[in-house]
Amino acid sequence: MHSVANTIKVIDRLDFPILPTYEDNIMGMLLPSYYEYLEQSDKTVKNARKVVLAQGKTKCSLCGCDLEEVYLGRANELLEAHIMLPIAQISRREKITLSDILFLCPACHKLAHTAPELIEEQNLRELVKGR
Ligand SMILES: [Zn+2]
Ligand SMILES: [Zn+2]
Repeated sequence: MHSVANTIKVIDRLDFPILPTYEDNIMGMLLPSYYEYLEQSDKTVKNARKVVLAQGKTKCSLCGCDLEEVYLGRANELLEAHIMLPIAQISRREKITLSDILFLCPACHKLAHTAPELIEEQNLRELVKGR
């Protein structure tokens, strides 16, 4: 809990938008908003997404759905980058590296942001495995 409180203190000082999706989720809104902000603005993340798409890697790494195939060439719009850095590392503002990024379909990505513990790949995989 201590590290969560610290994180909130740190990210509270940063200037980033709180997404309307989280407005009624007062306890959790800062953190998911910060992750989404990073996912859409961090240079490493943006470049990694471009590279993955250019290599034709258009499958969701969680459910395996091939977005290019299923949505007829729309992977570019649909493939989303997810940062799975644990909260403690985010609060230390460590640089995001390639191994911290997971490429997901919009549904799996939405799921990853429904609970703080699901940010991390292992917890997310266990949930999807249990479907
Ligand atoms: Zn998926
Ligand atoms: Zn994400």
